[in-house]
Amino acid sequence: MKIAINGCGIAGPTLAWWLHKYGHEPVIFDKAPSLRRGGYVIDFWGSGYNIAEKMGLFPALLDDAYIMERLRTVTGTGRTTSSLRVRTFQELTNNRYLSIARSDLSRHIFAECEDVETRFAASIIGIDDQGSQVTAHLSDGKNEAFDFVVGADGLHSHIRALTFGPQDQFERHTGFFVAAYMLSGYRPRDELTYVSHTQPGRQISRIALRNDQTLILFVFSNKFVPEEPENEGQEKALLRSVYGDMKWEAAAILERMDEVNDIYFDRVSQIRMSAWTKGRVALVGDAAACPSLLAGEGTGLAITEAYVLAGELNRASGDLPAAFAGYQNRLQAHLAKRQDMALKFAGFFAPKSWASLVARDLMTNLASLPVLGKMLLGSSVLTQLDLPRYEED
Ligand SMILES: Cc1cc2nc3c(=O)[nH]c(=O)nc-3n(C[C@H](O)[C@H](O)[C@H](O)COP(=O)(O)OP(=O)(O)OC[C@H]3O[C@@H](n4cnc5c(N)ncnc54)[C@H](O)[C@@H]3O)c2cc1C
Repeated sequence: MKIAINGCGIAGPTLAWWLHKYGHEPVIFDKAPSLRRGGYVIDFWGSGYNIAEKMGLFPALLDDAYIMERLRTVTGTGRTTSSLRVRTFQELTNNRYLSIARSDLSRHIFAECEDVETRFAASIIGIDDQGSQVTAHLSDGKNEAFDFVVGADGLHSHIRALTFGPQDQFERHTGFFVAAYMLSGYRPRDELTYVSHTQPGRQISRIALRNDQTLILFVFSNKFVPEEPENEGQEKALLRSVYGDMKWEAAAILERMDEVNDIYFDRVSQIRMSAWTKGRVALVGDAAACPSLLAGEGTGLAITEAYVLAGELNRASGDLPAAFAGYQNRLQAHLAKRQDMALKFAGFFAPKSWASLVARDLMTNLASLPVLGKMLLGSSVLTQLDLPRYEED
């Protein structure tokens, strides 16, 4: 089958890899001129980790990974208020837990797709589903026929909008915004440690990365956002107004913002849909079921969805309705559970009051105790998802 995949992030190239392995002909489109760089750092474990292993991404992935040691929360003067042993996550997962730049994970997956046709600076702008095939209208003005089309184009999926209608029907805004950027040569550095300062409704964190880079991450409540910014200038102005009076290193971090020209900025939202497929169109990854950054698991789930969609297609011997039904039935309940759990973590990122902030720090300290830590953190990383070994069919 010839399959168009819109989006070359995490889900898109993973799906292409598995489809190609099963003898299909995927074509990837991405509106970006090349594979996206920069962005933020993600935690990676669970079913996504296992599938990455099946794809042969290890040990190369480990070259760019970080095995983080601590999460430290600090007051405005830099005094530590709580400290969490991140190693607990490694122990809970038998050392199958790592942190890595999202763009590095994407690059490693894409590197395995050398036999897949990929067109950057190109995207699907329209779809005409004729029942027996789909005509994709491409951004270069051409039309091309495919057996089916997949939207792997993220939280603000264009394929979803074309096929299912406007995003607001499916978007559940968590009440938070996120922004991230990278600084070069920032001081101080705390190796392998997430350091963060929180006030009610707003958090600012830094993570020291290789090559003297530091990732700055802001998570803040929408009560600080009178109007959503529409361009990078407005995003910077908003960050200055939200964090301008905050202590700790906020002033130094904001001052360096002028040298940044690729801020990541978005609403922290989930996508909840009752169906991820319609006719000859399917959605995967954030396009289908974004769990939001609160889940800390979006990439792993995106990889899992891609693996299951390709596997179900192979198992159904190309019977598209059967494959699409299998894909949805196998994953929907699991995804909904992970999304529900993610919402419970909202209070960890930016507690709403001083009292809940103190409670969060207390819980963080308790979670650092070996036995208690495993009890408190276990449910966030130990998930039961039995997946078929499709590749052995
Ligand atoms: C700050 C932050 C922290 C996070 N932390 C974690 C974490 O710790 N662990 C974790 O697992 N997940 C985390 N996530 C979530 C994770 O990054 C996403 O769930 C994951 O990247 C989803 O993969 P995807 O392939 O569906 O979409 P994306 O990675 O967003 O890729 C979408 C691709 O589609 C392309 N595209 C978009 N529109 C179009 C179009 N119209 N036409 C063609 N191409 C298009 C884009 O250029 C991009 O390449 C975090 C997210 C954020 C924002």
